[in-house]
Amino acid sequence: MQKKGILLVLSGPSGAGKGTVCQGLIKSSSSMELSISVTTRESRPGEENGKNYFFISKEEFHQMLEEDQLLEYAKVYDNYYGTPRRWVEEKLEQGEDVLLEIDIQGALQIKNKFPESILIFVVPPSINELQARLIRRGTDRDDVIQKRLGCVQGELQEIPKYDYIVVNDKLEDAVDEVTAILKAEKCRPKRFSLQKYLQTGGLS
Ligand code: ADP
Ligand code: 5GP
Repeated sequence: MQKKGILLVLSGPSGAGKGTVCQGLIKSSSSMELSISVTTRESRPGEENGKNYFFISKEEFHQMLEEDQLLEYAKVYDNYYGTPRRWVEEKLEQGEDVLLEIDIQGALQIKNKFPESILIFVVPPSINELQARLIRRGTDRDDVIQKRLGCVQGELQEIPKYDYIVVNDKLEDAVDEVTAILKAEKCRPKRFSLQKYLQTGGLS
């Protein structure tokens, strides 16, 4: 009998390193899949449609919303972002763990719909380092960077709504911590079905 996968949500300030941590997790785990969001934001140099995001128009986004094709969505820094529903639900049913890298509004919608999901807040070691990372990344104009930095204080206030906090100082440590969280979560009694265990005579 197939066990359902776990929905793991990573949020945090822009530049904290969520995307980098996600890539590290995907590389190190064969049973974890990263959901590709849809967005109305313009693609950055080097970003690929269908790899980083599905880049769509506002009209297409609204149509997806009307057709209930999104598991959650939010307007973040003037653009719309959303998680395609069907892909995520299919993967979870197949027993795969699914990683969502989404903003706080979206994460809280997910927690409402899937109370068993795990919300992890990724923080940089300091605000100075956050600013340095945004500049080093070199993907956003200065006014965009300033706008994102201006949101940080408010974002940090939401940390208590999360299940875990991971400081992304050394990348390998951050990836290890998220892996450890997932491993521990799998051992929680609430994820264990005694009925199934007794019916099948084991968990294999
Ligand atoms: P986010 O997805 O949170 O916006 P990114 O993953 O794009 O952030 O990372 C922002 C920048 O910081 C990138 O240039 C990335 O290479 C760098 N970065 C990410 N994690 C670390 C880390 N642990 N140490 C140093 N630089 C990092
Ligand atoms: P960026 O433009 O830097 O790629 O992402 C901006 C913000 O949008 C980040 O905080 C990112 O986590 C968030 N984001 C990306 N995809 C989604 C999504 O599908 N839903 C929500 N709610 N936020 C998203």
